[in-house]
Amino acid sequence: MSRAYNFAAGPAALPEAVLKTAQEELLEWRQAGASIVELSHRGPEFLQVAAEAEADLRRLLAVPDDYAVLFLAGGATTQQALIALNFAAPGQKADYVVTGHWGKTALKQVKPYVDSNVAASGEGDGFRSIPARAGWRLSEDAAYVHITANETIHGIEFRPGWGGKADNDAIPDVGEVPLFADFSSSIASEPLDVSRYGLIYGGAQKNLGPVGVSVLIVRRDLLERAGQPRADIFNYASHLKAESMLNTPPSYNWYLAGLVFKWMLAEGGVEEFARRSQEKSRLLYATIDGSGGFYRNDVDPSVRSRMNVPFFLHDEALNDRFLADAREAGLISLKGHKVLGGMRASIYNAMPVEGVRALAAFMQDFQKRYG
Ligand SMILES: *Cc1c(COP(=O)(O)O)cnc(C)c1O
Repeated sequence: MSRAYNFAAGPAALPEAVLKTAQEELLEWRQAGASIVELSHRGPEFLQVAAEAEADLRRLLAVPDDYAVLFLAGGATTQQALIALNFAAPGQKADYVVTGHWGKTALKQVKPYVDSNVAASGEGDGFRSIPARAGWRLSEDAAYVHITANETIHGIEFRPGWGGKADNDAIPDVGEVPLFADFSSSIASEPLDVSRYGLIYGGAQKNLGPVGVSVLIVRRDLLERAGQPRADIFNYASHLKAESMLNTPPSYNWYLAGLVFKWMLAEGGVEEFARRSQEKSRLLYATIDGSGGFYRNDVDPSVRSRMNVPFFLHDEALNDRFLADAREAGLISLKGHKVLGGMRASIYNAMPVEGVRALAAFMQDFQKRYG
């Protein structure tokens, strides 16, 4: 089988151009006499890789100077726990807005450390919509408000029209309290106003590269907070002081993410990926909605994710047939997460528009054969 269109949710498809560059550079990185994965993270070669990755990510996302960028080992889940240790004093409240599985995970991670308050939850309606801002019960003195920008499993994303104070504003207004957002599965999919957030974090394995490295973008003044007693290795300020090299960083993963940043910039940056994401997701939702009930997506259309499209076949008995035929057609990793069942197509930046066109055509053909 040649390379298929891979709709995996994470680890997810990488741009083929990036894999080719990595392949070319695997044995020897730019006349260094060794692979980058074999060289010291303190040597000039890797320091250059690291510096370029940060500069490219800053350019890609227009990160303001008063924000630090960290590349850290540990996945997004690790950061979910660490943010409590770093930014909330013992006993201090932290507000959580839960719009799906990952919001619940984030909440679970901080339970031992903070007095967490669920300011709003979409669980009552099966995470099919986002509770309107007017109904959120925020705490007076919360250390931060945490949201999940895009729920990877439930396929729900904060979009303009989600129910915020202003109709065209995708970002929740939470006043003076810093807004913390898990952007694991939608970072770099469209322009991002970093200045509206206190902290943005994500594992790289959805939209930024390989698993094994997380990216953290944090307002520098927040790093001066006392937080809670913690080892140096769990201290973001220490990581910043050491330029993300407090201990041996996941250098190969960092390098691969850096290649992805360069590829995104060369393709036209986040504006171009916003355009492609809109085209891809619209095509897929139109295919589902136009199927007369053969396929179904239950998410409120105003907050449907542009990155992860969960859908169900009207007859669950066809699921295995669907997956097998899709595979035959060169379309893989469409099985939904066990939390939700059904199917899911993850269509991150590395998924070309042609891949989604192929999936839509396959779905229509499958319906013709089994509808
Ligand atoms: C995948 C994912 C996570 C978990 O990431 P790990 O790197 O496995 O810890 C957390 N949040 C969101 C939104 C995700 O998509």
